[in-house]
Amino acid sequence: MSRLAAVVFDVDGTLVDSERDGHRVAFNAAFEEAGLPDHWDIATYGRLLRITGGARRLASWFEQTGRSPDDARQLAERLHARKTAIMRDLIEDGKVQARPGVHRLLDELEAGGVPMHVATTGTRAWVEPLLDRVFGPRFQIVVTGTEVPDLKPSPAAYDEVLRLAGCPIDRTVAVEDSRNGVRAAVAAGLRVVAARNEYTRDDDLSGAALVVDGFEDPELVTWFQQ
Ligand SMILES: [Mg+2]
Repeated sequence: MSRLAAVVFDVDGTLVDSERDGHRVAFNAAFEEAGLPDHWDIATYGRLLRITGGARRLASWFEQTGRSPDDARQLAERLHARKTAIMRDLIEDGKVQARPGVHRLLDELEAGGVPMHVATTGTRAWVEPLLDRVFGPRFQIVVTGTEVPDLKPSPAAYDEVLRLAGCPIDRTVAVEDSRNGVRAAVAAGLRVVAARNEYTRDDDLSGAALVVDGFEDPELVTWFQQ
């Protein structure tokens, strides 16, 4: 493990199972508060996850359901701000938790002296309280979609982490859960471990060096040890 220069983690779906019980719930609450009839069930939200970034996801949905591009974008921006506030409340209420096995991997990396960073397309306003609450001060560099609006599969968030951390690309590993995330990390030149979840089980993760079903998979533990 000492040969690793750093490990860079995605947040949504990777460190935490935030999509189904976090973001989806927050989006639906924002629709309801605004008096809109829209509602995203689990399957619908799964399809919408192909669009990265909450505001873009909303805008795309509003266009698909008949609004003009301008109306869709404006409504999406307004609702996204409210959704972010609701997401923060859910985090403070402890509704978003680490995926099983994540804490153990972080403990092992920490014990091995491996620096850990975050590259996410999420918004800093909820990412920061989430990392604080669920993980404490584990991560050195945290790059979010607020500073780097060029969302995954663009490598921009990873590029920024690598620039700030100054760690060698060939000894840095990314941990992701989805197709867009794996593509972003691969485009940044990183080796990727993909831990699939319920929503990304059918994603094409072929760019990853290792694909597992979760952080409790013994293959993942062995991979990091080697
Ligand atoms: Mg993800």
